[in-house]
Amino acid sequence: MRPFGLAALWICVAALAPAQGNPPPRETLIKAGRLIDGRSDAPQANVGILVAGERIVAVGPLAQVQGQAKSATVIDLAAMTVLPGFIDTHTHLLLQGDPTSESYDQQLLYQSTPYRAILAARNARIALEHGFTAIRDLETEGAMYADVDVKLAVSRGEIPGPRIFAATRAMAPTGMYPIVGANWELELPHGVQPVDGVEGARLAVRQQVAHGADWIKYYSDRRYYFGADSVLHSWVNFTDEEAKAIVDEAHRLGRKVAAHAIGADGIAAALRAGVNSIEHGDGFTDALLDEARAKGVYWAPTVTVAYYVAGPRGGVWGPMIAAQKRAFQRGLQKGVKIVFGTDVGGFPWTELNQAKEFAYYVQYGMTPLQAIKTATAVAAELLGQDDQIGAVAPGRYADLVAVQGDPLKDITELERVRFVMKGGVVYLSK
Ligand SMILES: [Zn+2]
Repeated sequence: MRPFGLAALWICVAALAPAQGNPPPRETLIKAGRLIDGRSDAPQANVGILVAGERIVAVGPLAQVQGQAKSATVIDLAAMTVLPGFIDTHTHLLLQGDPTSESYDQQLLYQSTPYRAILAARNARIALEHGFTAIRDLETEGAMYADVDVKLAVSRGEIPGPRIFAATRAMAPTGMYPIVGANWELELPHGVQPVDGVEGARLAVRQQVAHGADWIKYYSDRRYYFGADSVLHSWVNFTDEEAKAIVDEAHRLGRKVAAHAIGADGIAAALRAGVNSIEHGDGFTDALLDEARAKGVYWAPTVTVAYYVAGPRGGVWGPMIAAQKRAFQRGLQKGVKIVFGTDVGGFPWTELNQAKEFAYYVQYGMTPLQAIKTATAVAAELLGQDDQIGAVAPGRYADLVAVQGDPLKDITELERVRFVMKGGVVYLSK
């Protein structure tokens, strides 16, 4: 049983508020020239979206919704396409690009966690201004639980940013995640929480959840190479018992699990363990795609980062792109749940707009509408938030973006967001 805590108390206070004479929520009528609602198969023209407070209360033909909106403030987006706010399911707020191990080590060794958190606050604003109203932030890379602090500051309205689903520290066994291999006399910072053994795995999940983790992430593999069978293989990090303990404990505590898994061996191990999402997934084979589909496991391909790191890292990282493209096309044919994830932070927030990922999906065979749904309906479903976000529909949060042109004709329009609203508040209008 959940103890009667602060959360329950807040609900009571909020429920009493209207009786104490608070004004009704502020109303806004948005006139949308074209609406892509995030779920439907076709756009609609001349739509009215009525927002009261932080929620959408009506969506329909403009004339009809206008009749419902008595004293609403009007936002005229008649020349634009309105969409649900985008959701990126693979980000790193606490990271500023790590194309090489030097750039990674530099951040962990020479930047304090407070300094990194200041940059994370800036990154949260960048994400929001690029139209991302929700993110799943998949670990802090050595910055402990600072993602939970950024989330708190955003949710309290102290800084602008997206809704954040935080994974905190992530997990890998001792010696299997950077920083390793340096002077053995020094205990260097770890990019993850080192976790060993079944009991260690359960303890780590409990610790991370206790400190605010909404999601649990672990690293299923490392050391990627192409075998004689042309499959991208990898070394698996955890024993099956350890990986299953992580997943079982997370699920027991009501948290879902994301597994970093690049090679076929890491993907297979993660699927055996029962994870909810595969991150990167370059080495997906047909058999593994079938298994992912059968188990309802989501796949966040993170194509943008793959292109970004291929040059500086060299070696296997170049050919991995072609392998992933093939896997993506096969996964699309097979109906695997491909979900929008970019790994921004793996590339600098200040250099590339994470919305670039949409264009890669279209280039790899999705229709523009399919690509849009990966960051709206599908992403919301992965997060277990499909009744809250990911669609322009009554009852959902008023998380909206608008672009000038038609993204169904030119998907790169999504890289030029002109208007952003989150929870009924306008953060960008140009
Ligand atoms: Zn990542």
